[in-house]
Amino acid sequence: MSETERDVTLNGQAQGPILAVSACLLGESVRYDGTDKRDARVQGLLAPFFQFRPLCPEVGAGLGVPRPPVQLVRREGELRAVGVEDPDLDVTAAIEEFARRFDREDGVDGLVLKARSPSCALGSAPVGESEELADGLFAARVRTRRPWLPCIQEDQLDDLWSRLHFAERVWIGHGLRSGHLGCLRPSWVYRLKGRGPGGIDQDPARSLEEALSRPWAEEEIARQTSFLQDDPALPEAWRERLANAAPEADPARRLGLLLAALAALDGDERGEALFLAFAGLTRSRDEAPAPC
Ligand code: SF4
Repeated sequence: MSETERDVTLNGQAQGPILAVSACLLGESVRYDGTDKRDARVQGLLAPFFQFRPLCPEVGAGLGVPRPPVQLVRREGELRAVGVEDPDLDVTAAIEEFARRFDREDGVDGLVLKARSPSCALGSAPVGESEELADGLFAARVRTRRPWLPCIQEDQLDDLWSRLHFAERVWIGHGLRSGHLGCLRPSWVYRLKGRGPGGIDQDPARSLEEALSRPWAEEEIARQTSFLQDDPALPEAWRERLANAAPEADPARRLGLLLAALAALDGDERGEALFLAFAGLTRSRDEAPAPC
């Protein structure tokens, strides 16, 4: 990635939506044994385009570092987090209390969470010795209380469509929350996706990939691109970008460019950040940094 692609700060301040990220993925030594799980995908793919707010539910719950490792178990039908070595150690209430406090935290546009963690995982935490996989306790609470908040695990960032869909939902949510509806022209996105307004969070199964696989998607992108190019309000630099976009380029890239140009047309300086985000996030998997 070039320096230009990384340059999405304005007045020295990071711009863009805020992602709450499992602190261990950011290199903070917060794991039970005092180590971290720094992840190159989080840094390489997301850091240039989003602001990070580290969080560790277990440290936030007051469990300290180092601490006894915990695991999920099912007791009387309920998932609980108990000590791996001492099953009498039950930290469920402490983690849930931290999650309740997080409910009141404003300004978070999405979460990037650690896979397989009994606190953070999204459907990938082992439950005792069984075959069952579940959400970590913190993640489960967030998903129940704020189902509209986009969440992704670090291993899902390997998949182009997963990360693009995540980023798109984060940007749309950010645009809605910050009152810059014009920034993302959601009605246009809905149209492309064949969704009705309000359906975007209720129907996460419908992915951008699915939208772009529609037979008329390519034609719609081309039509909207040409329409935008003729709009006298669009700054010259963006005209050139649209004109230079190779017609054979990945449709996701062209859609990202189009969304960003729409933001620029609205005079929203985040159009630039959005352009760069999509340019970075739609790099092919081979171009993405290898996981550490
Ligand atoms: S609770 Fe989450 S953030 Fe904290 S160390 Fe475990 S996986 Fe990382």
